[in-house]
Amino acid sequence: MTEKTGAGLLALNGLDVLRQSAVTVVGAEVGLARSKAGLRLAVLDRSGSPVFAELEGERGAYGDWTLLLGPTSAGNLDALRVLLPWLRPRTLGLRTSVGFGDRLGLATPGQVRALRDLGGGIAPIFAQQSIREMERTGRNPREVMDDATWGAFAEGWREGFGADADHLKTTEDVDACIAAGYTFFTFDPGEHVADGVEGAGASELRAAVERLPWDELEDSERDLRKRYTDERLVIEGHEIRLDEGLLLRAAAKYGPAVAHVARMYRHLEQAAGGRPFEVEVSVDETASPTTHAQHVYVARELRRLGVEWVSLAPRYVGSFEKGVDYIGDLGEFETDFAVHAAIARHFGPYKLSLHSGSDKFSVYAAAARQTRGLVHLKTAGTSYLEALRTAAALDPDLFREIYAFSRERFETDRASYHVSASLEAAPLPGEVDDPGLPTLLEQFDAREILHVTFGSVLGDRRLHVRLMQLLRSEHEAYADNLKVHFLRHLKPFSQGGSA
Ligand SMILES: [Zn+2]
Repeated sequence: MTEKTGAGLLALNGLDVLRQSAVTVVGAEVGLARSKAGLRLAVLDRSGSPVFAELEGERGAYGDWTLLLGPTSAGNLDALRVLLPWLRPRTLGLRTSVGFGDRLGLATPGQVRALRDLGGGIAPIFAQQSIREMERTGRNPREVMDDATWGAFAEGWREGFGADADHLKTTEDVDACIAAGYTFFTFDPGEHVADGVEGAGASELRAAVERLPWDELEDSERDLRKRYTDERLVIEGHEIRLDEGLLLRAAAKYGPAVAHVARMYRHLEQAAGGRPFEVEVSVDETASPTTHAQHVYVARELRRLGVEWVSLAPRYVGSFEKGVDYIGDLGEFETDFAVHAAIARHFGPYKLSLHSGSDKFSVYAAAARQTRGLVHLKTAGTSYLEALRTAAALDPDLFREIYAFSRERFETDRASYHVSASLEAAPLPGEVDDPGLPTLLEQFDAREILHVTFGSVLGDRRLHVRLMQLLRSEHEAYADNLKVHFLRHLKPFSQGGSA
């Protein structure tokens, strides 16, 4: 039904159409054109088809064609989603996948270029943002979706993409993201994980077990014990102990979270009204690692309650701090992760998800190997850091201001993140000359400081506007930085093979 090209549109004098975006569809040519005022939707049509009547913009005659130039508005994008179905987010199933967050709404083109260079093997999620991050960046679920979709359109990405409503904590969050067309729902029951029971004594543990929401779990302590008693679980040669003590600790720690996920899942099922969706369950933002026995408990209990999910993010051993490499023993990580991967194959199969997954270069090979490609890598803030890298090279004054401001905000903003950077260990803005500014993006402490303060920087209107202006005018430099950076993330997973 469609051919690529859009040759007529590309040949129009005085119209700077993005070559990759141009496409011929239902007898018309559609693309994005660059203008001083930003990107414009351009449509060259002589079909008179009513589908084009819905588009808003200025129409002019061009021979026997009509040329429409319109805004990149929500309404126009809705109309395009009808015409170009690959712009609608879809479910990805068990394919090896990567979530590309984008807090600024300008990163998708560079992310697409990395995927193109890679040559396949990875299913992308472009729109992906947690409600917390939306609040911090002043965007809503719909705007996050639309920014990413315009980016995919600009680059002519037609292989499809998912849209991740990330770290959802309430059913209201679910509703807002369903309405905006999301397809991937990450449930975060972290507030319901009782980390405290890890160190609890017998009586404390007993009390926690008695307090469990047994009705919601459709269960009783007696039935729970019956289901697990004397089970010697061997999965792919790994023996997983789940004796009475370990079982009760797993139930006390994760039982309320399991009940919460089941509640969210049932709500989503209803709200989706038959539309396809997929679910991830994440407990990555909790204090204590998820043991293998606890992973087994969570998977078995969710399944018993009828929850279906495509990926799970346990809290792994070691430390996944924002924007920097894995901190911990790599051998220990792989040994532990291998059993999580075996459990995911056994009780699913479902993917293991790596949250705060950006820049964890030292664990990617092990993660791809042990999961055999049943893996989802989730990144978010690292695209913002590439925006800052672009600023550091091309507008040193702006970058210096952002860095100084981020340093001021760090002690406050770090509270909701798990980072170990210190201000003392990061260079002072005055200590670095202009050519050296990009190296701050490689310095551990400076990198974390810049990472966790994005909300404050974007909340400062002056800095936000200047950064966006720079990235819009230097779009090629930003896209190049993103491409290079993401290729390093994607390559280790592209050989893992997709199912
Ligand atoms: Zn996460």
